Amino acid sequence: MNAYPLQDQLQRPIHDLRISVTDRCNFRCTYCMPKEVFGDDYAFLPASELLTFEEILRLTKLFISLGVSKIRLTGGEPLMRRNLPELVAGIGATQGVEDMGLTTNGVLLGHQAVPLYAAGLRRLNVSLDALEPELFGRMNGRGYNPGTILRHIDHAVEAGFEVKVNMVVQRGVNESEIVPMAAYFKDKKITLRFIEFMDAGNDNGWSYEKVVTKKEILQRLQPTFELEALEHSYFGEVAQRYRYKGSQAQIGFITSVSESFCSSCTRARLSSDGKLYTCLFASNGFDLRPMLRSGADDTSLLAAIKNVWEQRRDRYSDERTEQTRTSRAKIGMSYIGG
Ligand code: SAM
Ligand code: SF4
Ligand code: SF4
Repeated sequence: MNAYPLQDQLQRPIHDLRISVTDRCNFRCTYCMPKEVFGDDYAFLPASELLTFEEILRLTKLFISLGVSKIRLTGGEPLMRRNLPELVAGIGATQGVEDMGLTTNGVLLGHQAVPLYAAGLRRLNVSLDALEPELFGRMNGRGYNPGTILRHIDHAVEAGFEVKVNMVVQRGVNESEIVPMAAYFKDKKITLRFIEFMDAGNDNGWSYEKVVTKKEILQRLQPTFELEALEHSYFGEVAQRYRYKGSQAQIGFITSVSESFCSSCTRARLSSDGKLYTCLFASNGFDLRPMLRSGADDTSLLAAIKNVWEQRRDRYSDERTEQTRTSRAKIGMSYIGG
């Protein structure tokens, strides 16, 4: 049976669905949830406003019929969502899901790697911005030690996971960590992906000067490592990949600022309270929750999703200027999940 019966109805394909399962997080990364904004009294969404697992699975199936084959679970911090392995098992058992991954800060992986693997998850992206303890503690806003995350990465690998590591690079903050991080993860044969600092949300103090581009990161790596560029392995692949010569170890770059990729963007995003967004830098999303909770049938939900997708004209990163950064309100990264 064709798992994607309606995919030909869309002018531009949707391949990926990113599902945020919570807006809460145990970190306060300076570039994502600065403490000054996300203080102790910050009002996160109440549980009743989060989509239930049943609602998420229903929407997942509808997105799959439209062509989605890749699911990524994210947050806030997705491992803070109660009973997450149940959702993972449900998504894994859904016909048409060819790939399922999860992005996490890794703090709760010590307890959760094994249950998540048992539920069918195989791929993890762990975010880690520095190996130097004082710097990492400052960047995560909560004083967490990188040693804990590194131990949890080893534990996840032992449990059977394919792990990649994401590092956001900010000028004047952690460029000094580029080479040590590359050396550490090359030895571990874990792919390290350098992410250009983005003007997500409205509060992270972004400016062009603070972006360390792919070009500059490569220049910092090349005196130490011999690297060769690899071809994209599928349409819409976001990371530009390189291999260390003479080794199978790879690095990747997410060049959202210096080399944007809006024309091949095939990603839809679902917030934890059920809003559909077609761009990471959107101001508004389409609220699917009232439809879900007022008995809408699958035909109406599909029509709504198709309509939103067909109308999308998002090209934020292609058009980014110093002005766009501040001239419109944008959803936050911790709300939509990257
Ligand atoms: N809490 C999880 C984590 O940190 O992995 C998942 C959600 S987080 C929003 C997803 C990814 O977005 C992380 O890899 C994080 O480093 C990245 N991110 C957050 N804010 C960013 C920014 N301003 N620029 C670039 N990447 C950012
Ligand atoms: Fe939390 Fe992830 Fe945002 Fe850091 S990047 S504050 S871990 S959601
Ligand atoms: Fe897609 Fe928006 Fe990012 Fe462009 S800026 S690649 S449209 S999410």
